[in-house]
Amino acid sequence: MTRKYNFSAGPAMLPQPVLEQAQAELLDWNGTGQSVMEMSHRGKEFMSIAETAEADLREVMNIPDNYKVLFLQGGATSQFAAIPLNLLRGKEGADYVNTGIWSTKAITEASRYCLVNVVSNSESSHFTSIQNYEEWNINPDAAYLHYTPNETIAGVEFPWVPDTGEIPLVADMSSNILSRPVDVSEFGLIYAGAQKNIGPAGLTIVIVREDLIGDAMDITPTMLNYDVHAKNGSMYNTPSTYAWYLAGLIFKWLKQQGGLEQMEILNRRKAAMLYDCIDNSDFYSNPVDKEYRSLMNVPFTLANSELNEKFLTEAATRDLVYLKGHKSVGGMRASIYNAMPEQGVIELVDMMKSFETKYG
Ligand code: PMP
Repeated sequence: MTRKYNFSAGPAMLPQPVLEQAQAELLDWNGTGQSVMEMSHRGKEFMSIAETAEADLREVMNIPDNYKVLFLQGGATSQFAAIPLNLLRGKEGADYVNTGIWSTKAITEASRYCLVNVVSNSESSHFTSIQNYEEWNINPDAAYLHYTPNETIAGVEFPWVPDTGEIPLVADMSSNILSRPVDVSEFGLIYAGAQKNIGPAGLTIVIVREDLIGDAMDITPTMLNYDVHAKNGSMYNTPSTYAWYLAGLIFKWLKQQGGLEQMEILNRRKAAMLYDCIDNSDFYSNPVDKEYRSLMNVPFTLANSELNEKFLTEAATRDLVYLKGHKSVGGMRASIYNAMPEQGVIELVDMMKSFETKYG
């Protein structure tokens, strides 16, 4: 069996030791004679899996006690609505930073529930940069400020955290959660779909400061109400049990790897290899402002777009797959989340160099 290097933006690669453990436990978890998939979510076995996963995530991210951790469904996309519904707390509007396609989607959805003040918009630069914080048009009365620390499509990442003072900071960390340490106390709410750095699709994690919940709008659907989920341990309805279990295995794997400090070192090394290859060539290019280049998603174009198909075919013969870029950007995109081994990036860079020699 050959495992391919999968550069997809998500669902993405999972660490092989985690998949092997899941395989070993598939039919019989811990001598219970059942698969985790078959367990009642309210039974003591699954409850222990759920509690351990939460405790490990709290440890890995150093989440303070006054934050709830929710294991939800509906993807990050459901949170685009849940955030205004829960966090407006009687206020009229919220601030949003527009740094790309995902921020734009969050803005469109929030506009159904509140007045959205777009404090900064980098669309005119085709989302290849981020405006300085000093230039943002902050509304001091905003219920919260929402931003997307890593824009998965254009490959634009904030190297800094906006300091919004009393205004709660809300972050869509779908594509860079767990890739480096963050100080959770700087945020009011962090959310992420699981299918990049957390685990399989079907699970959505919300980390929210306790004082921000409990005042959802009356029209809030029960399933989008953070208070309901917090009071029910994320088991108001049947949670995504298997994805929760696998996320728990990933959190343990992260601890074994040396935690997020170690992840950051590795992620920086992997990204630098790829950006160096692009920058040292006249054949490949990446348009993103160097300061804001993503460590997780590296888009690049070829000097001649007619070679795109050939590039993808040659890559596939070397087991390097899902490199096709998003249609809005074109070219290629290499997503190199935590589970992408360094060797995968080494092989990709090697393939890029030989492709350039052949066709460049
Ligand atoms: N936000 C970001 C930054 C994303 O990358 C994605 C998915 N690629 C989403 C939101 C949407 O996530 P989901 O598919 O889990 O709803």
